[in-house]
Amino acid sequence: MADTQRPEKIRKSDSEWRKELTPEQYRILRQKGTERAFTGEYDEFFEDGKYLCAACGNELFGSDAKYNSGCGWPAFSQPAEQDGVAYSKDTTHGMTRIEVTCSRCGGHLGHVFNDGPQPTGQRYCINSAALNFKKQEKKE
Ligand code: FE
Repeated sequence: MADTQRPEKIRKSDSEWRKELTPEQYRILRQKGTERAFTGEYDEFFEDGKYLCAACGNELFGSDAKYNSGCGWPAFSQPAEQDGVAYSKDTTHGMTRIEVTCSRCGGHLGHVFNDGPQPTGQRYCINSAALNFKKQEKKE
């Protein structure tokens, strides 16, 4: 979708992230935290635009893939680009889940589940605090 090349990976020290992010962003993105259900600013939010990584600005999701899952967090049926996110197995909290991270800065975003809408069947359950919404700009 995006026609620009994906920028280089970002590596910062823990103290740099702590300085740059809000405490809630830091807790979620760098410490794999989860915001409370139904409290995130993008949970019930359906404007046209892009969702960027709140830590590094990487384009992660588009509003065209956002849907109302009712689960309490923003839900997307697919990422904006397949290589914008990365996956790893998460066995914490007595569950086996697939963690979704930003491929550029490694920040924790949320998890992906197989109960999403067709055709992808996927539900990317993402913390609002890990995202920055950018309103769609008018095409020239
Ligand atoms: Fe990032």
